[in-house]
Amino acid sequence: MIKTLLSVIGLSFIGSILGFGGGLLLVWKESFSKKYSVHLISFAAGVILAITFLDILPEALASGGENTFLLALIGLVIFFLIEDFLLHLHHHEDEAHPVDATASLLIISDAVHNFIDGVVIAVSFLVSPKLGMMVAFATFLHEIPKETGDFAILLSRGFSKAKAIWANLLTALTSFLGATLTVLLAGKTTNLVGPMLGLAAGMFLYISASDLLPELVKGGKKDLRWHTTGFFLLGILMIYSLMKFIPE
Ligand SMILES: [Zn+2]
Ligand SMILES: [Zn+2]
Repeated sequence: MIKTLLSVIGLSFIGSILGFGGGLLLVWKESFSKKYSVHLISFAAGVILAITFLDILPEALASGGENTFLLALIGLVIFFLIEDFLLHLHHHEDEAHPVDATASLLIISDAVHNFIDGVVIAVSFLVSPKLGMMVAFATFLHEIPKETGDFAILLSRGFSKAKAIWANLLTALTSFLGATLTVLLAGKTTNLVGPMLGLAAGMFLYISASDLLPELVKGGKKDLRWHTTGFFLLGILMIYSLMKFIPE
């Protein structure tokens, strides 16, 4: 139990806190991020799609059963509600509080997102340590562009740099809470693991289809086309070979 707890906390650290650090680095090194963020996002999209189809969905089917695809669809919709609907609900600027309205919604949805990331990492680890590591890696990769975006939104809402860093770090910490609670509760109800993985698959599909792939399609000048395609395929190929050649 303690060993499992320490492992999922370590993996959450890789996913959320290192992802946060990566996002911070990109905000700081703006020239670097202008040049390479499209490569990173392409690679992340490939990795996450491959992990979802080759890893999470098969495991969810194996341990959950018949409702996997329905749950994946529900997971996708839930994530849409958290990420998109919630954030755009208050988009018409409130005259009295033009600054805080969307900033606080962003912080709430960010905290919920990171909490779920922690849950997903822990559930995956409970299925197999290898799956846990894969999912932590996928989390790390999607968190870098996500955290970069979080910083940009907070700064544009009038947050100082220091305040934006603190707010974003605190929301990233909720992944530890999600991971810890999952391990504590899983001791009692192991039959939730399959359904949770089904939901997680939907969430990963939403992240790649809504946050990452559109960036590839619209982003990038003509001369970067080969780079985005290459890195996208590289991400898929990397996960495929990891699946094939690394034993459980
Ligand atoms: Zn995330
Ligand atoms: Zn964030």
